[in-house]
Amino acid sequence: MNELQELVEGVYRDLKNHIGEGKVADYIPELAKVDPRQLGIAVATLDGGLHVAGDADTAFSIQSISKVFTLTLGLGKVGDTLWTRVGREPSGSAFNSIVQLEYEKGRPRNPFINAGAIAVADLILAGHQPREVIGEIVHFARFLAGDDSIVIDHEVAKSEAETGYRNIALANFMRSFGRLDHPVEHVLGVYFHHCALAMSCSQLARAGLYLAAGGNDPVLGSRVVSRERARRINSLMLMCGHYDGSGDFAYRVGLPGKSGVGGGILAVAPGKASIAVWSPGLNEYGNSQVGAAALELLAQRTGWSIFGS
Ligand code: GLU
Repeated sequence: MNELQELVEGVYRDLKNHIGEGKVADYIPELAKVDPRQLGIAVATLDGGLHVAGDADTAFSIQSISKVFTLTLGLGKVGDTLWTRVGREPSGSAFNSIVQLEYEKGRPRNPFINAGAIAVADLILAGHQPREVIGEIVHFARFLAGDDSIVIDHEVAKSEAETGYRNIALANFMRSFGRLDHPVEHVLGVYFHHCALAMSCSQLARAGLYLAAGGNDPVLGSRVVSRERARRINSLMLMCGHYDGSGDFAYRVGLPGKSGVGGGILAVAPGKASIAVWSPGLNEYGNSQVGAAALELLAQRTGWSIFGS
């Protein structure tokens, strides 16, 4: 058996007794229904290999991991102008925090907290209807993953729209500072739908490969973003990808990563691989507990930490 496949299976085996730990996000009713006793691991390598273990082919709600794809789309549309709308600093605050927005006059600290992703959704709406933009995001995810079966889970999007009081507040607050160009309902429609993309670890690892490969997807054989942009997106993932748990994740795993409250994490080992893990139980920061543990073991055993092996 391939050495990396063995390693991935070993990580799964070593964490088997921990599966189910953590607390499933219940503020989105549809997510509260997910069985916490699941763990998937998928590693996509630059040579086109895919190594999986556990529930790697079960689709789950990728939630905030989608913010990596919308940021990529946003930068593609408006380039560095995007940074006039949203910052590049870690927030040190919870994913849905509103406090810093007041000090920063409605300009979110980074594109990966909820407020920042709402700003990016507003930006990519320019000249389009929400439906068109949502379609574009789904197509982009399908293109990156090389898989046309990827869809949005409309039950999750509806569930979040019905109970997303905090996000509705964030969007209105930003609008009150004149920071949104489009109606709040349109912006949130795009935001809730991209968060509700359903993908498996295998699809996600595959989709993140462009970030591991300097922007040039080796399987698709096409350039997705410039080398410089891939490097910059990775740096943002490292600093801001796990909200107020970003420091802890960098310390333990040492890889750029983006988490979602569905329990998924996409991590990037530059020049080596794109890794997706999923286990629904979350830690106190809202990041997958067992998923982060899986990445910690994987980074240790492969020596892939960007800070040295
Ligand atoms: N859709 C979620 C929310 O807005 C995303 C949060 C996350 O995945 O961290 O609350």
